[in-house]
Amino acid sequence: LPRLPIFEAIASRDPKAPAVIHSVSGRRFTYGDIIQHVIEARTELEKTAKGSRLSGERIAFMVENSYDYVVTLLSILATDSIALPLAPSFPPNELRYILNNSEARILLASDRYKSKADEVLKEGLDNTPVFSLVEKRLKGKAEEPKFEFTEESFSNGGMMLFTSGTTSRPKGVLLPESALTAQAKSLVEAWSYTPSDHLLHVLPLHHIHGTVNALIAPLFAGSTIEMMFPFNANATWERLAAPFLASKDSGPEKEKVTFFTVVPTIYNRLLSTFGELPEEVQAAAKQGISPENLRLNISGSAALPTPTKTAWTELSNGNVLLERYGMTEVGMALSCGLDKNDRVDGSVGWPLPFVQARLVDTETGKIIPLGGEVDANGKEREGEIQLRGPTVFKEYWKNEKATQSEFVDGEDGNGKWFKTGDVAIRKEVPGAGKSAQEWAKGPMYFIRGRSSVDIIKTGGEKVSALEVERELLSLPQIAEAAVVALPSEQWGQKVAAIVVLKPDATGKGGKTWGVMDMRRALKDKLVNYKIPQELKVLENGIPRNAMGKINKKSLIKEVFPELEG
Ligand code: ATP
Ligand code: MG
Repeated sequence: LPRLPIFEAIASRDPKAPAVIHSVSGRRFTYGDIIQHVIEARTELEKTAKGSRLSGERIAFMVENSYDYVVTLLSILATDSIALPLAPSFPPNELRYILNNSEARILLASDRYKSKADEVLKEGLDNTPVFSLVEKRLKGKAEEPKFEFTEESFSNGGMMLFTSGTTSRPKGVLLPESALTAQAKSLVEAWSYTPSDHLLHVLPLHHIHGTVNALIAPLFAGSTIEMMFPFNANATWERLAAPFLASKDSGPEKEKVTFFTVVPTIYNRLLSTFGELPEEVQAAAKQGISPENLRLNISGSAALPTPTKTAWTELSNGNVLLERYGMTEVGMALSCGLDKNDRVDGSVGWPLPFVQARLVDTETGKIIPLGGEVDANGKEREGEIQLRGPTVFKEYWKNEKATQSEFVDGEDGNGKWFKTGDVAIRKEVPGAGKSAQEWAKGPMYFIRGRSSVDIIKTGGEKVSALEVERELLSLPQIAEAAVVALPSEQWGQKVAAIVVLKPDATGKGGKTWGVMDMRRALKDKLVNYKIPQELKVLENGIPRNAMGKINKKSLIKEVFPELEG
């Protein structure tokens, strides 16, 4: 086994300690199993490559969320090549785009996805042969693996993940093994994963959130990862409740969940389905998510609405969601702290360990120094978040132009900064930043949105779509909200709201809740130019991608087709 930090971490654990559990079947795999099976799978992979060098090559794989996924990913790292996990749920043409774009050398498919892989390749991929994974390795138990570390010099391995495609076509992001290691170590330090943590994993494994935060980082720390995918609200509630049900039968799958990290839409789904559970399950589920049992509940990938956070705190008897901010290109960048006082509503906290962050004023192009959070008129200065450090990606795959334009030189000669395209303000929050966590100090970051779609310029003023969405979501009538910019002859842009109403929402005089009701309700909360001038009510929810994000450009096209051309 090559001496990579991830393998050193895994090998340092008790080989009998549980690493991965399949939630439904209850099958358990240990840290010792991983070592043994990665060594076997590596040999198979090299056989598949028929002696040609794999170092730096992309190896795509289509494997369900399972122990097999873990072994596949790690065995690819063990050949110094680049692991490219594919979402089996993608339509064939999307998969072909990714395979072509990445120039994957090999496509591995589990039994379940073999025919889908064949279908994808049938229609003209030039260079990617398909191979079945040998699933026999799921059988043997290998609690005392015999192995040695080899001293190979690896520098070309890592992962390729595609961005969520919220603003344009997904971009292939090349994350060297060193960046993955730094991302995982940063999170282990900040969130204190331990061998006694039991993480319930309900996220897709082709995005950074599910892959680094919920898999690689806990593996680094020796935690247990229980896979339960795709997300299902009822099954999740039942699983969280299981250890606390009076009628529980003992079994490995009934260990209590201590760690949960998902996206805001999942918390919303859980909150809205809780009432449908049988009473006995409700009581047990409440215990399952209480602060004494669920050590850490995290939200990210999109802004966490304050009503969601508040409702979760109430339901769980005081478990406050910890919000963090990150992206495919960097992993996690900013996070609130473990201390409850450091989980401030609307804030994503501070730069994580190993992450250097700065704000570059969107007006003046100057760096906003610490302490310079407001301008001479007392107005909060908005800046683009720029990041650097060992967690940052190397390049957009085969897209030299994007790579060039998203990095800027540092004035100090200590390397380039990555331009995230996200805008934030910083604020000193009284009472926060007082914990022992060294990195969680100073003014906190508050995300204002993506500069490309969320920062609306109307009549010379700037409006953060996220701020307006927050206010809309705090109204009792509104279930979902997206705020967008529409072209306006008078103002350049005008603010518009696209919402989904709650079933019982009524407006003035018992009529349907409309634009005037919205404007009246926001009058005391937002200055006039921030209040949306238009309102569209959708019946069937706002379309979101797998990570609960809204593609605002296509939403506008869909909701305001008259704007076309
Ligand atoms: P694409 O780059 O293809 O448009 P994407 O940016 O949505 O897609 P990801 O890398 O998965 O792809 O998402 C990162 C983005 O998600 C961030 O740049 C930011 O805009 C948003 N984001 C992540 N966490 C938060 C958060 N806590 N609050 C607000 N926005 C967040
Ligand atoms: Mg992005």
